[in-house]
Amino acid sequence: MAKFIPLSIPNFEGNEKKYVDEALEQGWVSTGGAYITKLEDKMAEFLHTEKVAACQSGTAALHLSLVEAGVKPGDVVIVPALTFIAAVNPVKYQFATPVFMDCDDSLCMDPVKLKKFCEEECAFTDGMLTYKGQVVRAVIVVHVFGNMADMVSILETARQYNIKVIEDATEALGSYYTDGPLAGKYAGTIGDFGAFSFNGNKIITTGGGGAVTASDLKVVEHLRYLSTQAKNDPHYYIHDEIGYNYRMTNLQAALGVAQMEELSVFICRKQENYELYRQHFEGFELGTLSSFRKGTFSNKWFYSLEINRDKITASMRDIISSLEKQGVQTRAIWGLINEQLPYRNDAAYEMEKAPYYAERILNIPCSTQITKEEIEIAANEIKNVLRGYAYE
Ligand SMILES: *Cc1c(COP(=O)(O)O)cnc(C)c1O
Repeated sequence: MAKFIPLSIPNFEGNEKKYVDEALEQGWVSTGGAYITKLEDKMAEFLHTEKVAACQSGTAALHLSLVEAGVKPGDVVIVPALTFIAAVNPVKYQFATPVFMDCDDSLCMDPVKLKKFCEEECAFTDGMLTYKGQVVRAVIVVHVFGNMADMVSILETARQYNIKVIEDATEALGSYYTDGPLAGKYAGTIGDFGAFSFNGNKIITTGGGGAVTASDLKVVEHLRYLSTQAKNDPHYYIHDEIGYNYRMTNLQAALGVAQMEELSVFICRKQENYELYRQHFEGFELGTLSSFRKGTFSNKWFYSLEINRDKITASMRDIISSLEKQGVQTRAIWGLINEQLPYRNDAAYEMEKAPYYAERILNIPCSTQITKEEIEIAANEIKNVLRGYAYE
């Protein structure tokens, strides 16, 4: 068998070992230490925002955002159906109720349906939006695979109906608007809250980790407070609120600072590699490489191929396992969250594109250190396998 080409693996070409060693030598391994603030400062600078709070995971960042947005038991939170389940689980941690929204052709939340849902299915009285008698408190918007959602429309609807916007930018660190009223604004710095992840497969990693930001600086301070057990001061055990053990550790942050130093290079490689794939798949009739929203710059974290279902009926499982045998690791897009066991009783609004794309999107190898030759091999194997499944 030829060399195995993985879907997405971390890349440690920089100062990772040096910084982690330093943290170990200094004994700062836990939730205190200079690397944590250093990482926060670097991120804030990169995102052109004032403040960021580093935390344990993207999931923790989302959970803290919901807490801070005032999401309480019985509230409604509008969420995407087609995304990673970590974007939605924190809604249940708050004993709130998700309402699943369809995606548009960008794979991100459909802004037209979101507006229509608020207009036609909800009531708006005294500045409060309710759905079946429950307060609609927030909407979670995911920038899928680094492609930015239509934030202009979504923000407009959210402001009109007084609901908080939580951006799940876990996949979109480095994506930003280039045109329109949001030009220059980075994913995660547009809504009321922005969540980031540094899990192993994200564009940069701290092993596990995340960060959260908010449009209001005092809110970022408070998020940090909540993430450190809501400890009022360093020395006396006074706690005025229920806190969480969600703070990032200095060991993770040491890794993160080294990764932040390389982020621009990684984003650059993602662009170049996407362009290579684009050339390989140009004119290919059985699959189309997905593109990114006009008027934005995407970090191009993940590349996806839309399988032409008019010509190929083989299951994703069969396609993926055939490719695996050829040494090319691919993955299907997620299963719809509203169809997962814990979510089957929750409302899903006019699902149409999410199920459509759920059976068509295949993610293909996209590590930053993938070579030109490996991209060619991967593209050819993918084409061969799909041709093998196609019928005329
Ligand atoms: C990775 C990811 C998360 C969760 O991040 P963790 O750091 O793994 O907790 C949430 N939402 C989306 C869309 C993700 O891709």
